[in-house]
Amino acid sequence: MSYKRQKPWGRFLFMTAVLSGTAVLSGCSVHMLPFDDKVVEVQDDDKEEPKKAVEIKPTRAPSPTPVPTETPVPLEVQPILDEAASYALQYDYDKAIAFLEDQPEFGEDLALQTAVKKYRNTRAACTEWKMEDITHVFFHTLIYDTSKAFDGDEDEAGYNQMMTTISEFNRIIESMYDKGYVMVSLHDIATVNDDGTMAPGSIKLPPGRKPFVLSQDDVSYYHYMDGDGFASRLIVTDDGSVKCEYIEDDGTVSVGNYDMVPLIDEFVEEHPDFSYRGHKGILAMTGYNGVLGYRTDSAYKTGQNLQDNQKEFLDANPDFDYDSEVAEAKKVADAMKAEGWEFASHTWGHRNATSSSAGELKSDNEKWEKNVKPILGDTDVIIFAFGADISNWEKYDFDNPKFAYYKSRGYNYYCNVDSNRLWVQFTDQAFRMGRRNLDGYRMYYNPELCSDLFDVDEVWDQSRPTPVPEM
Ligand SMILES: [Zn+2]
Repeated sequence: MSYKRQKPWGRFLFMTAVLSGTAVLSGCSVHMLPFDDKVVEVQDDDKEEPKKAVEIKPTRAPSPTPVPTETPVPLEVQPILDEAASYALQYDYDKAIAFLEDQPEFGEDLALQTAVKKYRNTRAACTEWKMEDITHVFFHTLIYDTSKAFDGDEDEAGYNQMMTTISEFNRIIESMYDKGYVMVSLHDIATVNDDGTMAPGSIKLPPGRKPFVLSQDDVSYYHYMDGDGFASRLIVTDDGSVKCEYIEDDGTVSVGNYDMVPLIDEFVEEHPDFSYRGHKGILAMTGYNGVLGYRTDSAYKTGQNLQDNQKEFLDANPDFDYDSEVAEAKKVADAMKAEGWEFASHTWGHRNATSSSAGELKSDNEKWEKNVKPILGDTDVIIFAFGADISNWEKYDFDNPKFAYYKSRGYNYYCNVDSNRLWVQFTDQAFRMGRRNLDGYRMYYNPELCSDLFDVDEVWDQSRPTPVPEM
């Protein structure tokens, strides 16, 4: 396999190798992510108290600021102004203005008219962002208890290379917010016409703000991660918010912000202007161990073709009820979508799409459609496992049987992995985007590649063993 054939993910490997002074790795993208199913022996050392997630404090007033109220605002108008302000804070000035003008009081009410004037001015100061100039960053499941992830067992190296700790994540997000980054959806950047062709989207932001895409891969809480300091699943709490469960050493279950989704939900609650029109990140999901920590794959129902750790799970949970597992997972997915999250296929089996044949990708995708889609819903986004794309950097066309198949199944957005700040490609049939891994490996070997987003020295979690192992 030539270098050219490997681009752009090959370039990612090439660059990291060159920059870190190591030999150029060849054909090793399969080693990038250690998500092969494996049985892990948990070493139960004396553990310190798990660190609590770093609380992110607002570091600046959200901007644009809510409407000033020079004259006392009649009590009944304040909720209207507040609702309009909530749209404007997330850059939807059209909606804020239309909402205010729709009020029966609008003709007589000075406060409402003043607000409209202000939003018109702010809207006029916004500029249309260049769709090719949008960066995309991604994470894996975040490490909550570093003493368990970095405990010297056989998974430590992979976690150190490919995962990010919660304290690092919080500092990264805080830094990106301070630099003016705003989360947008892939569907803001490119749109799909009725006939399946694609067109550039439109994002308008005030001065100082810049869009980015956030994604997270493999939010399955795979069996092999049990006992390694990660959340065990996502849940919907009684008040309707999405939180994580974490299984403590004594078997009790804690509920909190132990992974990206609830951390971002809470951050956006405190800083609504971090989200463009309510849009949040996109989760790249496999299916073989279920989704979101629920064991929803049909193998758990049929008991057929089970891997060892799946068998162990079923043996340890004799009351396992497949149907309620699926129903619970769907509840979480629905709550997340209502909060602005999206889902992508990461292939059902974490397949390498470069080395798999079109036929293999077809049977894999059929499993995704059968086992994952009923829970997460339709998606037209595929985020390639291992970053392994179905073509090189040249544009997709229908002569490529893998693209022809995926497009026929409704996929329009395709993401690989690329360490460059920007890798964006439009055609009338597909939108492609590279994603930057913000993990231990990148921060340790190429801190300069993160400098537009954050300063590694300010973010680095001291509990990481160094050197981060080479790949
Ligand atoms: Zn993955």
